[in-house]
Amino acid sequence: MNSPDTSYTGRFAPTPSGPLHFGSLVAALASYLDARAAGGQWLVRMEDIDPPREQPGAADTILRALDAYGLHWDGPVMYQSNRSEAYRAALDELKQRELLYSCTCSRKKLTPYQGRYPGFCRHLSEIPQEPYSLRLKTPTRTVTFDDRIQGKQAFPLDEIGDSILLRKDGLFAYQLAVVIDDAEQGITDIVRGSDLLDSTPRQQYLRQLLDFSEPAYAHLPVILNDNGSKLSKQNHADALPLDNPLPLLVRALQALSQPVPESVYDLTVETLLQWSVDHWNIESIPSRMGIPLK
Ligand SMILES: [Zn+2]
Repeated sequence: MNSPDTSYTGRFAPTPSGPLHFGSLVAALASYLDARAAGGQWLVRMEDIDPPREQPGAADTILRALDAYGLHWDGPVMYQSNRSEAYRAALDELKQRELLYSCTCSRKKLTPYQGRYPGFCRHLSEIPQEPYSLRLKTPTRTVTFDDRIQGKQAFPLDEIGDSILLRKDGLFAYQLAVVIDDAEQGITDIVRGSDLLDSTPRQQYLRQLLDFSEPAYAHLPVILNDNGSKLSKQNHADALPLDNPLPLLVRALQALSQPVPESVYDLTVETLLQWSVDHWNIESIPSRMGIPLK
């Protein structure tokens, strides 16, 4: 076997809050095909840093489903639950650089601001007695990037406000963990759902602060269910069946506007995936959100 091209490293990074569903299969398949078509590596990272949201056994169920669908990853799976030291070290560095501050605001107090933090605690000087989160001081600046599917993107950081990096309950924030781990795993290319498009400017800004290189991005259109809402574990999307992967692989390829070979049901999963790697064309994926499931 040829050694992989290390100039491309992609990843699939599920949260083990339930089994894989069709929407996550589409995201996994797209990032897998993009990596393999580039001759690159494809890694899996389990984003298990939020125990209250997780389901026991879901990480193993997800890995079994990836295997059943022929999406074989390279190297060991990274578990974010083992990465606290690295996250803590990054927080310490940012703290030393006076880029973090404590915030005691309740969810209720912030509700009217719809996700944009208005900076209430930015200028508090004492360490609070009550539980607090750590927020990142974020400047007035526009983050831009060129998305391979969505095109040119520009997000003014002041519309987002100061992100939480350490939660009030002591858990590390998703934004922090993703940035630290993408750097640790040498990720060069991120292919994921457009529901995460809003996270990208926060992550880009944090990457710049920590002097990490910026990956290329491709944000996939979100798969909707029959009611027109996003297919997700929260709205009880069906778990992928493990015994008959071909029909859903075909539907996933169609959702990505990729060709499907003739007599596809005579193929093995491995042969179909190799054919799909050879015919992968990210440019035919529509940028518009919300491909209907059927
Ligand atoms: Zn606050």
